[in-house]
Amino acid sequence: MTLLRQNRELKKLGIWNWSLPAFAGKLPDGRNYNACPSAGVCAQACYARNGTYLFPQVKARHQDNLRWTMDDLPGWQHAMLAELSRKRFIDAWVRIHDSGDFYSRAYLTAWLEIMRARQRTRFYAYTKEVAAFRELVEPNPPRNFWWVYSYGGTQDSTLDPTVDRVADVFPDDQSIAAAGWHSQEDSDLLAVLGPAPVGISANNIARFKARQAGRRWSRWQAGVDAARAARGTSTRSAAATGDTRPGASGDPR
Ligand code: SF4
Repeated sequence: MTLLRQNRELKKLGIWNWSLPAFAGKLPDGRNYNACPSAGVCAQACYARNGTYLFPQVKARHQDNLRWTMDDLPGWQHAMLAELSRKRFIDAWVRIHDSGDFYSRAYLTAWLEIMRARQRTRFYAYTKEVAAFRELVEPNPPRNFWWVYSYGGTQDSTLDPTVDRVADVFPDDQSIAAAGWHSQEDSDLLAVLGPAPVGISANNIARFKARQAGRRWSRWQAGVDAARAARGTSTRSAAATGDTRPGASGDPR
């Protein structure tokens, strides 16, 4: 079975990729999953929740990939190691997840072991799983692994762009340049190898652009976080005064 594939964009660059389904859903056996547990606003404008990713056979393959890692992580790891033993992966690049993320520490650990066992292959990833990376990757990263933290997730506030390599989705190329960020338009590998911080131009999908409303994902997420924090504060103060009538918190909704 072929585990690693090349989508149209990445094929041009000779990059292989491994895919999970984007965000949350239900497996055919009825189990719920979330392959992007730290997704925030990104889930509302996710390229992998659109177009060819929604074709039944594509979705089924991605769900099957996820199900395998959930049900038999050692068996999947063994199969991935066997696949990566093929000659074509020597000195090749593999993007881990063109959709989905490192959804559990066990799954992330399995990948770290794979990377350490296949030193002739180079791996890279975008991720929103900041806490898991701080704990499991940053102290001792495999030397053949590059990653970039991407904004638009629930852990955005823990990122420090002066220290962390970060990527943000901008409304267009002009706004990337105006902010002094660096586009990865010419090659996806620039996200991990080129100058940082990294700017990505939003996909030209009308309903996603409407939701993004001209904002960068980091600002969009920060707005959502601030609104949530304000709601939490007002709810707590209403509870502290004992006035929990609807509207007593000051929340207009
Ligand atoms: S983390 Fe990535 S794949 Fe998952 S919902 Fe967000 S943008 Fe989509």
